[in-house]
Amino acid sequence: MNDSIVAISTAPGGAIGIVRISGDDALNSALTIWENPSLSGKTPAPRKMYLGSIFSEKHKIEDRALLVYMPGPNSYTGEDIVELHCHGGILSLKNILELLIKNGLRHAEPGEFTKRAFINGKMDLTQSEAVLDIINAHSSMALHTANKQLRGHFGEQVNEIYEKMQEILAEIEVGMDFAEEELMYDDNAIIVSNISSIIKQVKKWRQTKDEGEILRNGIKIVIVGPPNAGKSSLMNRFLGRERSIVTDIPGTTRDILEEFAHIRGIPLRIFDTAGIRKSDEKIEKAGIGLSLDSIKTANIILWVIDSHQNYKQQALDENSITSFSKTIIICNKTDLTNGIIPKDLPEKIKHVSTSAKTGENFEKLLDAIEQMVWDHPHTEEPDIAINSRHAALLEKSRKELEASIEQINLSLMETAAIHLHAALDYIGNIIGKTKDPDILDNIFSKFCIGK
Ligand code: GDP
Repeated sequence: MNDSIVAISTAPGGAIGIVRISGDDALNSALTIWENPSLSGKTPAPRKMYLGSIFSEKHKIEDRALLVYMPGPNSYTGEDIVELHCHGGILSLKNILELLIKNGLRHAEPGEFTKRAFINGKMDLTQSEAVLDIINAHSSMALHTANKQLRGHFGEQVNEIYEKMQEILAEIEVGMDFAEEELMYDDNAIIVSNISSIIKQVKKWRQTKDEGEILRNGIKIVIVGPPNAGKSSLMNRFLGRERSIVTDIPGTTRDILEEFAHIRGIPLRIFDTAGIRKSDEKIEKAGIGLSLDSIKTANIILWVIDSHQNYKQQALDENSITSFSKTIIICNKTDLTNGIIPKDLPEKIKHVSTSAKTGENFEKLLDAIEQMVWDHPHTEEPDIAINSRHAALLEKSRKELEASIEQINLSLMETAAIHLHAALDYIGNIIGKTKDPDILDNIFSKFCIGK
């Protein structure tokens, strides 16, 4: 971990591009290609920006760039960091990167800056994961929740439980060592009650898995229905802009359009699909096939119909619906029917009337979606929303904790301790106590280079 790394940390196409260097050689390497005559050999003051020139080997000026030096340990990675803020052109940035690599730096792997921050104790593993959550957040609720995790809100609580478990284990082990001498140690009932309260906390965190999944992955909403019912118009209303082509010519949407949006803090992946009807036309038929497929993986299906016509003429294919409880029939175009909707709607499926054109009742549709997403009372912003890795570890540790209670009740303290050790390892893995290289690779490989 002692070699110094470099990467372009900004996305291509921006006005400014940042080349980031971390490690013991950060400053020396940067100074091999960057120069500010007024510094004349002096070390730049920490966290102060200096304007200078970047030279290639042939002393040709490559760019003008701001240099900022952030000496460790008070830096993101805990090591010396230098950032060069350059012009955003991808070619110029690549040239600068190559010059630095030629001068001995290594190109950073995905997430390596954050991995170093974790290894150097600047953050725990839940905080490192939160960095990725922030980058990927698609709603303000997702962003705020990730920010809480980044500030250590979840990690600190897990650490508290970890320390409590260590204390319980120590009590059991001391008890085992001195049992023969009949030294006093905490009554088993107290130990069981302490473990039980840990199980309660573990279960409470585990319950936030669905929220975590929704906030991280979003809800997949598929808009389906017969041609011309107003699917594309509805998609556009969700997005607040014209994305889908709206025409009165049936069968114009043949592909599936996917867009991100968010309503009331819920990130949505919305899919506008080809109108479903009997067709012999090859391309339209392929589009209809895709529409039916997308239903299978949807979290919520919006079946849009035209309120002018009976439901029966535009009924959804019930065989293709995996769950009626996640389907909403949208009686659209109520601006043309004075709010009147078809009388033959099936009772078993929820329906909402709206006008995609005027926006009438659109909030009611959002209410229905919100209710479907959070099937329990929901606070505006979850305090903690765990990810699937945390959930799996919490589940395993709960099982081990329960097994340890069973053993204590049988006065089998040695086996109880084995289960508690296992539970402790699982809890420790959440915050990265063990620094298992496989776990770290798995987490940091999801990051982009330069983060
Ligand atoms: P799709 O084929 O289901 O995607 O339907 P479109 O969104 O392309 O709409 C088909 C036609 O119906 C277009 O002419 C739209 O302007 C019109 N339309 C869609 N929704 C409404 C609505 O709520 N009210 C009215 N009056 N017209 C609508």
